[in-house]
Amino acid sequence: MNDGLVAVTAKGAARWRAGHPWIYRSDVADEPGDQAGIARVTDRKGKYLGRALYSPKSEIRLRLLTTDDVKIDRSWWRSRIAAAAAARAGIDASAWRVVHGEGDGLPSLVIDRYGPYAVAQLLSAGVEAVREDIAAAIQEVLQPDGILLRNDAAVRRHEGLPLEVTLFSGSVPETIEVTEGGVKYLAAPWQGQKTGGFLDQRENRVMLAARARPGGRAADFFAYHGSFTLHLARVAGSVLAVDSSAEALARGAKNATLNGFGNVTWKEANVFDLLRELEARGEEFDTIALDPPAFAKTRASVDRALAGYKEINLRAMRCLAPGGVLFTCSCSYHVHRGDFEAMLVEAAQDSGTRVEVLRFTGQPSDHPEVLSIPETGYLKGALLRRV
Ligand code: SAH
Repeated sequence: MNDGLVAVTAKGAARWRAGHPWIYRSDVADEPGDQAGIARVTDRKGKYLGRALYSPKSEIRLRLLTTDDVKIDRSWWRSRIAAAAAARAGIDASAWRVVHGEGDGLPSLVIDRYGPYAVAQLLSAGVEAVREDIAAAIQEVLQPDGILLRNDAAVRRHEGLPLEVTLFSGSVPETIEVTEGGVKYLAAPWQGQKTGGFLDQRENRVMLAARARPGGRAADFFAYHGSFTLHLARVAGSVLAVDSSAEALARGAKNATLNGFGNVTWKEANVFDLLRELEARGEEFDTIALDPPAFAKTRASVDRALAGYKEINLRAMRCLAPGGVLFTCSCSYHVHRGDFEAMLVEAAQDSGTRVEVLRFTGQPSDHPEVLSIPETGYLKGALLRRV
């Protein structure tokens, strides 16, 4: 569908004025109701409001693209993607996020760059309907050797879309070597988590390594393929890298070899169990990374999630050597910054340790968090020191 007419209620229009791009089903007054694509949106009296992505099966019916009265064609996508790409200049890595969906004014579209390849996610029926235009725009702006569509994100189900991983153009290998602040790692665009790596922790990894004790003992809990581990291994005497995924650890071991690091122990374990054991044995680390998966997938699971976060943080604090540094974080959107910080306070109180805040952190600038669109922000972290 191109320029199908959709009318919205005053409440729907007010959301756009408040800076949020989504209009829900209940705020749509009149719609064609069949085909997804680009909609021309007006108020009930027919006054033009903007062009938006239209998803006939989703609770989120409309996602604002522009309030200008312009055609959304290939060249429109090209100029928006080019603007986002230009804002990323100067990143000290060969992989970064080029388009962070709503954060870049391109709702439901994610584009990550891994060296000469592009990995994109089309997360709504609206962008899926115009994928040819979007892929052509990606090709023109980034000139990648291949474009992979990681359209296997669960949110696509809400849009009535299939979960699939497809090569759109060119070729994309199983693993791609990435450089990041002095280390190299293999990203796995086809099989790995997200689009093949956790690009959102890039700055936090470099920040933690800068605080790691030279020659000391480090641990990376929830290590995945060792992204924190590799940065720590440059500085620390030894690194214990722990994850429950054997596949991720196997790639981690390859990553260590790629960098010539022989000081990493890869351990397949449940972090909850292992931290309990380490604490019971009185083991101490000078530097700890604690980067768990999102424990709260829904608002209803926030309390349980906070209990889980508290448990691992409390134990990690107890496993810190005096003067040791802990980077801890939560990537659960539903756990807000205040909840996260309150959880850390409780963990510190119950652990009986004295811990000071060196810094609170969030997402790097290639994952822009827009204040009027809370959904663009999900990652919050803290760099702590035991004193
Ligand atoms: N720190 C990583 C990303 C971690 S993602 C990076 O910067 O690249 C979370 C990881 O936690 C995943 O690799 C997942 O396999 C692992 N995981 C999830 N639950 C776990 C558990 N209970 N114990 C150990 N690892 C777990």
